[in-house]
Amino acid sequence: MTETIPVPSGSVATRIALLSGPEEAQAQTAACTPGLAAGPWTFDAAPGYGPGASLGDTVPAGTPRQGELPAEYREAGAAELDERILRAKAALGSRAVILGHFYQRDEVVRHADFVGDSFQLARAAKIRPEAEAIVFCGVHFMAETADLLSGPDQAVVLPNLAAGCSMADMADADSVAECWEQLTALYGKAPQAGGMRPVIPVTYMNSSAALKAFCGENGGIVCTSSNAASVLEWAFERGQRVLFFPDQHLGRNTAKTMGIPLDAMPMWNPRLPLGGNTAERLQEAKVLLWNGFCSVHKRFTVEQIARARAEHPGVRVIVHPECPMPVVDAADESGSTDYIQKAIAAAPAGSTFAIGTEINMVNRLAAQYPEHTIFCLDPVICPCSTMYRIHPGYLAWVLEGLVAGEVRNRITVPAATAAAARTALERMLAVRP
Ligand code: SF4
Repeated sequence: MTETIPVPSGSVATRIALLSGPEEAQAQTAACTPGLAAGPWTFDAAPGYGPGASLGDTVPAGTPRQGELPAEYREAGAAELDERILRAKAALGSRAVILGHFYQRDEVVRHADFVGDSFQLARAAKIRPEAEAIVFCGVHFMAETADLLSGPDQAVVLPNLAAGCSMADMADADSVAECWEQLTALYGKAPQAGGMRPVIPVTYMNSSAALKAFCGENGGIVCTSSNAASVLEWAFERGQRVLFFPDQHLGRNTAKTMGIPLDAMPMWNPRLPLGGNTAERLQEAKVLLWNGFCSVHKRFTVEQIARARAEHPGVRVIVHPECPMPVVDAADESGSTDYIQKAIAAAPAGSTFAIGTEINMVNRLAAQYPEHTIFCLDPVICPCSTMYRIHPGYLAWVLEGLVAGEVRNRITVPAATAAAARTALERMLAVRP
């Protein structure tokens, strides 16, 4: 099955030109990696682990590192790579399935059998049980999730090991374990009145398999941006409070819609004792928010919304819940990538949308729905640079490897971690959306 979202004609080169735009626009990219104007759009200058879109993004220790691609892929032109990918794909037939995330570059998405968000894609892998290889054109945690949900004989392949997620990297297993130790020392471990646990850990899908396993082992659960409210309800049926990681914004925005006051949502800074809080403040907490964020979504601002409304009267503003709370509050609606896509599909012709999410998805929607006016809230294009590490050259390299009988860049979650991580995912699947 090929997804219905077509590839727009605008090239990546056009967007590079936009990135190198006027000075005023450049000033707004202060949080962006300057290398975005060239580096990740082609090949990594030095193979390694890819940073996110912010200069301050973490690079976790012990993370997998991508080696240098053979010269024949680095030196091949776009047309040659395209042809090699098509040829390898045809040779593999149903033995391989290619998954492309909504935020992925067009040159890669055009080869995907399925396009969607991370969870849709992980589940899509299950639809092709005959595929020996699942080539995941997304980021590392997504490939791990696909490995958790796919069959034992299926190999999940991440074309470039440098494609991480800066948000997922903001909560590492050691820091979360240390936080948990402090919380259990403060709250105790024993269930309290009515069998309620003192704290339920909830991790966003954008996290490592190790953190999903941590949740599985400690009575916790995974959530997506589509089901975060239902998952928090599940957690509050079982516990007095929630530790939510890694995205503070999704946690705050969701808890706020459930009526939880902001002063009952302290932030947990993993570099400070008690996360930078007093014991008294933590006693009053309902949701402890890990100090993580998405470097792409935190760029959207209330001022951008005001400008969109001034320039496009009647515009419908929809933002992703990974955006900061004031932005979500100022928008008309907030929702997952799936929500945004469905809202646009259901709108009457002639509608105008200002969208607060990653630029590749917005551009693709604009191409798919020419009857609407659809634009990105952020006038300065700042894509997810880690996602962009999946250059077509890497895709050609892994596919040709499969044709030759070699599985390159396989992502495998160790068995002990996988069992506990699946427990947390299964709890989520049992929760109604
Ligand atoms: S858009 Fe943000 S959350 Fe999504 S993969 Fe990129 S850095 Fe991670």
